[in-house]
Amino acid sequence: IQMSRAFKYVILGGGVAAGYAALEFVRRRGDATAGELCIISEEAVAPYERPALSKGYLLPEGGARLPAFHTCAGANDQLLTEDWYKEHGIELMLGTKVVSADVRRKTLLTSSGEVISYTTLIVATGARVLKLEEFGGSGSDAENVCYLRNIVDADKLVRVMRSCPGGNAIVIGGGYIGMECAAALVANKIKVTIVFPGKHCMGRLFTPKLAEFYENYYTSKGVTFIKGTAVSSLEISSGKVTTAILRDGRRLPADMVVVGIGARANTALFEGQLAMDKGGIKVNGQMQASDASVYAVGDVAAFPVKLFAGEPRRFEHVDCARRTARHAVAAALGAVGDIDYLPFFYSRVFALSWRFYGDNAGEAVHFGDMDSAAASSTPKFGAFWVIAGRVAGAFLEGGSPEEYEAIAHAVRRRAAVPDVAQLAREGLAFVLRE
Ligand code: FAD
Repeated sequence: IQMSRAFKYVILGGGVAAGYAALEFVRRRGDATAGELCIISEEAVAPYERPALSKGYLLPEGGARLPAFHTCAGANDQLLTEDWYKEHGIELMLGTKVVSADVRRKTLLTSSGEVISYTTLIVATGARVLKLEEFGGSGSDAENVCYLRNIVDADKLVRVMRSCPGGNAIVIGGGYIGMECAAALVANKIKVTIVFPGKHCMGRLFTPKLAEFYENYYTSKGVTFIKGTAVSSLEISSGKVTTAILRDGRRLPADMVVVGIGARANTALFEGQLAMDKGGIKVNGQMQASDASVYAVGDVAAFPVKLFAGEPRRFEHVDCARRTARHAVAAALGAVGDIDYLPFFYSRVFALSWRFYGDNAGEAVHFGDMDSAAASSTPKFGAFWVIAGRVAGAFLEGGSPEEYEAIAHAVRRRAAVPDVAQLAREGLAFVLRE
């Protein structure tokens, strides 16, 4: 006989968005009553702040460990341990994978064969890493090949890193996962070579000039960049990679490999049942999918961004997960307006720290003296992106809270730029004046 249970609200996924949704639910409704709210997560632990996995978690000493970084620690808000969910009447089904969904019947089937039915579903399934195999490569199963998406991955990375002190790591990919892991590996006294096919690191966000600063900084920390090529194969002996072979035949000795080659939203359960867009589930300004009883939030949701004239976008950013989750809960529990989201992404590596707001489209206008920044222990510089005489995006390294707020504000109100040369000259002063 098939077990089956019914809940009014089900959150599918137990990551960042799920944690923030749960807190928002309790804030608006008080404790859940029996059969009211359930969270189903494939992971074995309660929702946590995923960005910690490539930062504090990898520190050589005194690394961040649970329960310290459960949600909603990252927003300096309440820390939701497993007990918190119990105390607030929320059923937290951990270690449970949903294997199929029936949107018309409003049911989910779990890996343990249980059928969960819902009145309202909030899809928060996030994204999964892309594997080497998806690009014709191999070696993902080797003992010393690491990916980084969840805490199981992070534990493996720590274990492998500690097994080869002073050894060689090959980092495949120059995105933020590759860059943050490379910095952590250096802190753990491992020699790092980063390999990627693009012209420069952080290709989707950085301008060549911004990238140059960070690449020089990494180089000064002993990191080697091999750009414009790819690892074509990994040589494996006794279950471990020993050598990475590049397209041009070069052989790089490897004690470990970290792969950060991108992610895909986890939409498979809903393909053919919900409208899709931008590689995710298409939702409206209420985070509501093409079936009105389903909401989608976080990495998996493509939603209209007012700042971009209502164009649907999908972001794999923690701030987006937090805000869209809260918005969906507010919408599901009553009427709210459409979400008005300011895209925001950040990263921290070594002693550096940057924030980016808006869109990196249009003309890039750099500010700050990057040459002297390179020599400074507290560099400060950045870029604005200007479209049709208005600020569309802004990047700042080393800003103060007030300065970050000022660039965010400039993007939010699409500050007029009558003279690009003046913007380049004045830099931060241009937006701090307002
Ligand atoms: P996730 O947090 O990925 O949660 C998805 C959850 O759904 C997981 O628990 C997963 O197990 C579960 N799930 C999926 N499918 C199923 C299923 N079928 N059944 C049951 N459960 C399922 N963003 C930034 O802005 N700044 C950063 O510095 C930053 N650093 C990051 C570092 C790392 C290592 C990673 C991996 C991400 C980082 N991000 C960062 C991105 C940010 O963490 C994500 O945008 C955020 O976690 C998205 O939240 P989410 O809830 O949508 O998805």
